[in-house]
Amino acid sequence: MLIGDTGYGTADLLGWLVEEKQITPHIPMFDKSEGKQELFGLSDFTWDPEQDHYLCPAGKSVGRNHRNFKNKRSGITKKNTIIYRASQSDCGPCPLKSQCSPTTPARKIERSIHEAARDLARSLKHTEEYALSRNARKKVEMLFGHLKRIMRFDRLRLRGPNGADDEFLLAATVQNLRKMAKLLGQSNENLLVTT
Ligand code: SF4
Repeated sequence: MLIGDTGYGTADLLGWLVEEKQITPHIPMFDKSEGKQELFGLSDFTWDPEQDHYLCPAGKSVGRNHRNFKNKRSGITKKNTIIYRASQSDCGPCPLKSQCSPTTPARKIERSIHEAARDLARSLKHTEEYALSRNARKKVEMLFGHLKRIMRFDRLRLRGPNGADDEFLLAATVQNLRKMAKLLGQSNENLLVTT
């Protein structure tokens, strides 16, 4: 399992973690697939991996472009996505068009080639294990925030992974000593009050 923040929730990184390394991602995603609230988002469409298409809320197919090009094309864009489109003859008279594709002749869906990994990350968000790991992550992030803002540890001075290791060890030691001094100070105050 790998716990990370939204910065690690890109499609490419999730694809690498899940598909290549078989690591369970406890990572929140910056998900633009839901679009505007009043319009249908990706979750309103049903993915059918066998037919390689989506079924829209009106039950129509939203599929890949199967034009016969002279030179066969992969259909994968520079953004590592595949474009799926509904047909204009389905969307034109559709009663749901205003909630689905109000400004274009037909609905278009951009699906990442790593969408299966993204789906896994989405589904994990509702598990008990994810809630636990999110709480653990927040505790660590609070410490990082404290290091950055209060102790002004906003950049590394030493180079390379070993340098980073040493600097973090020192910073964490200082942070713990600071905490310890505060706690000891408090207990001494209590002693003074009770004696
Ligand atoms: S507008 Fe097109 S894609 Fe959207 S629900 Fe209607 S038929 Fe389906």
